[in-house]
Amino acid sequence: EAKRNGPASCCAYTPELRRALAARLATESCLREAVAADRIDVHFQPLVRLTDGGIHGFEALARWRLEDGSSVPPDVFIPIAEEAGLISDLSTHLLRRACKTALAWPSGLILAFNISPLQLVDILLPERILAVLAETGFPAHRLSVEITESGFAADLERALDIIGRLREAGVRIAIDDFGTGYSSLSQLANFPVDKLKIDRQFIANFLTSDKQMKIVRAIVQIGLGLGIATLAEGVETEEEHRRLRALGCQLGQGYLFAAPMPADEVATYLAGLSDPGAP
Ligand code: C2E
Ligand code: MG
Ligand code: MG
Ligand code: MG
Repeated sequence: EAKRNGPASCCAYTPELRRALAARLATESCLREAVAADRIDVHFQPLVRLTDGGIHGFEALARWRLEDGSSVPPDVFIPIAEEAGLISDLSTHLLRRACKTALAWPSGLILAFNISPLQLVDILLPERILAVLAETGFPAHRLSVEITESGFAADLERALDIIGRLREAGVRIAIDDFGTGYSSLSQLANFPVDKLKIDRQFIANFLTSDKQMKIVRAIVQIGLGLGIATLAEGVETEEEHRRLRALGCQLGQGYLFAAPMPADEVATYLAGLSDPGAP
């Protein structure tokens, strides 16, 4: 019998609900276990300067490695971590790992790190991030925090306060998946942003769609006008690379350059780029 005053009393406790709850609890506890057992990895994908092919930095991308060798993509487990209230701890864990890895890179390189929109309501976020920087010794000015426009939806003032405090500490701010959210164009002017990442969906079609081309060009122009760098996500072909460079887009990221790679492959990747004999 359902409890009279509990939340269960307002809806039927059906076998379906029971199964759904059980599955979710199982996934949550698997995720908790994975975090504790260090089975959440960080992979790194290069951010490339479109003008000369030089490396601007790497974006940290989380991977949940399963026992059978397969892996769960972040689009799947980050929402579970958010719902389970695990995102803050998971994120701190990932940032610590990423900063430790990035300390071994050449000192000019940026570490880009994704923050979930939910974290932009956590007033302790700046302290948490700065504590990891202090603990690992990774310099604030080499960290670029990536936030999506939906991060401003819940509580704009609070999000701006959080971002402002990170910016004051020297951390860089990038707007991720730019163009897909509740566009914050009005915010850009009084907003300390360093980089706009043009969402992959625009890059996927801009060579064949005149409208998409105009959108990409307009975003690059906004960036040029406001002194904010633009980065094209999902660059997959030489032709896309060439056209983006011609538009004035400074940075790119995508399979054309490299897919996300495990931490221990970054050094080899960088060595291959600077080796004049490399293919
Ligand atoms: P994002 O930040 O927009 O990351 C870029 C995504 O595009 C990555 O997917 C990357 O693997 C993929 N990608 C890169 N180049 C190409 C390309 O040329 N073609 C195609 N089709 N895809 C490309 P991934 O790694 O699956 O991550 C998905 C999303 O999960 C990320 O989107 C980010 O929003 C989120 N995410 C990843 N790691 C974290 C994390 O540590 N914390 C949080 N909160 N979110 C994360
Ligand atoms: Mg990102
Ligand atoms: Mg993105
Ligand atoms: Mg994206």
